[in-house]
Amino acid sequence: MIIGVPREIKNNEFRVGMTPAGVAEFVAHGHTVLVECQAGEGSSYSDADYALAGARLATSAAEVFGEADMIIKVKEPQALELAMLRPGQILFAYLHLAPDRAQTEGLLQSGALCIGYETVELAAGRLPLLAPMSEVAGRMAAQVGASLLQRSSGGRGVLMGGVAGVLPANVLILGAGIVGINAAYVAKGMGASVTLMDVDLERLRQIEFVWGSAVRTVYSTRHDVERMVAEADLVIGAVLQAGARTPVLITRDMLALMKRRAVILDVAVDQGGCIETIRPTTHADPTYLVDEILHYGVTNMPGALPRTSTQALMNATLRYGLAIADKGWLRAVCDDPALARGVNILEGRITSRPVAEAHGMAF
Ligand code: NAD
Repeated sequence: MIIGVPREIKNNEFRVGMTPAGVAEFVAHGHTVLVECQAGEGSSYSDADYALAGARLATSAAEVFGEADMIIKVKEPQALELAMLRPGQILFAYLHLAPDRAQTEGLLQSGALCIGYETVELAAGRLPLLAPMSEVAGRMAAQVGASLLQRSSGGRGVLMGGVAGVLPANVLILGAGIVGINAAYVAKGMGASVTLMDVDLERLRQIEFVWGSAVRTVYSTRHDVERMVAEADLVIGAVLQAGARTPVLITRDMLALMKRRAVILDVAVDQGGCIETIRPTTHADPTYLVDEILHYGVTNMPGALPRTSTQALMNATLRYGLAIADKGWLRAVCDDPALARGVNILEGRITSRPVAEAHGMAF
C-alpha cells in the first residue's frame, strides 16, 4: 500500500501524522510511505530524517493525496485537502465529526473511507488514540502549574517541592483519570503534596493500592471539594463524563474560600470545564484573573509540545495503521472491533451512530 503523510495545514498545528520511526515500520512491512517535504518541521523532524527512514519525499500535498491509498494525518482535512480526497481512499486522522456538519458533508461527498482516531474504542469505553494526548496534557499541567505559581507569572510565589523546613505546594487534582494521574505523577515528582479526587471509587482504590500514602485520595463531593480547595495552591481540573458537558465542581462562590493568587488550571476546559469561571484561552495569552485567582484554560495544551505529542500519537496509531495497510481495511476492521468503531464514513454513508444522531442523518 502507498501511505501518504501530508504536512498539517490547520492553523497552529505543529504535529505530524507519522514519525521517521513509523515510516521505517511501514517500509519494513513492504509498504511505500510518501511524506510531503517539511511535514515534520514543526515536530523537529527534517526531510533527511524521513528519507533515511525509507520515505519517499513529495514536493506537494497534491502529490501525496494523488498517489496515496491511505492518508495518515493528525487533524481533520482542511478545505484544500478535502478537495483532494477521492473515492475509495482511506483517511486515518482525528475527525471529531459530531459537532462539525460542514466537515461531515465534505467527507460524505469525497467518497473516502474515513476512520476517526477519537472513535477507535476498546472494551470498557477506553479511547486508545485520545489517551496519549491526555497523558501529555496531564504531565504538562503540573509543569505549567509549577511555572504559574511563580510570582512573575501571577501566582502565589510557592515552589512545588518547597525546601528543607518549608512546606511544599498543595496540589489538588479533580478527576483521577488519565489526565489526573499523569498530573499527579509529575507534581509528586516535583515534591508537591498531591490530592486526587474522583467519584470512581474503584479508580481511587487502584491509585491508593499502587501509590500508598504518596498521594491522598478523596471521594469527590461538593462538601469535600470546598474543604480541599481552601487548602490548595494549585488546582488542576481533569474531570470527564463521557458524552456530556463536564460537571462544574468549583463554583464562583468557592473562589472566595481559596488562597489569594492560587492557580486554577482546567484541562477539562475543552469539554466546558469543571470550574465555573474557566473560559478557553490560547498559548499566546493563557491566563487571566478572577477574584484574585489565576486561571489557565488552554484548550490544546499538547500543541505546545509537538515533538512529544507526535511521538506519543504515532506510538498509539501505528498498530492500527499497519493492520489496515497489511490486511486491507475490510479484514482489519473485521478482525478488530475497536478499529471498526473508528469507521465514521464509508462510501458516502455515515457508519458511526453518534455522528449520525448528531446530524439527524441516516445510519
Ligand atoms: P478520563 O475519562 O480518563 O478521566 C476523567 C475522570 O473524571 C474519571 O476518572 C471520572 O471518574 C472523573 N469524574 C467524573 N465525574 C467526576 C466528578 N464529579 N468529580 C470528580 N471526578 C469525576 O478523561 P481524561 O482523558 O483524563 O480527560 C480529562 C479531560 O481533559 C477531558 O475533558 C479531556 O477532553 C481533557 N483534555 C484536554 C486537553 C487540553 O489540551 N486542554 C488535552 C487532553 C485532554
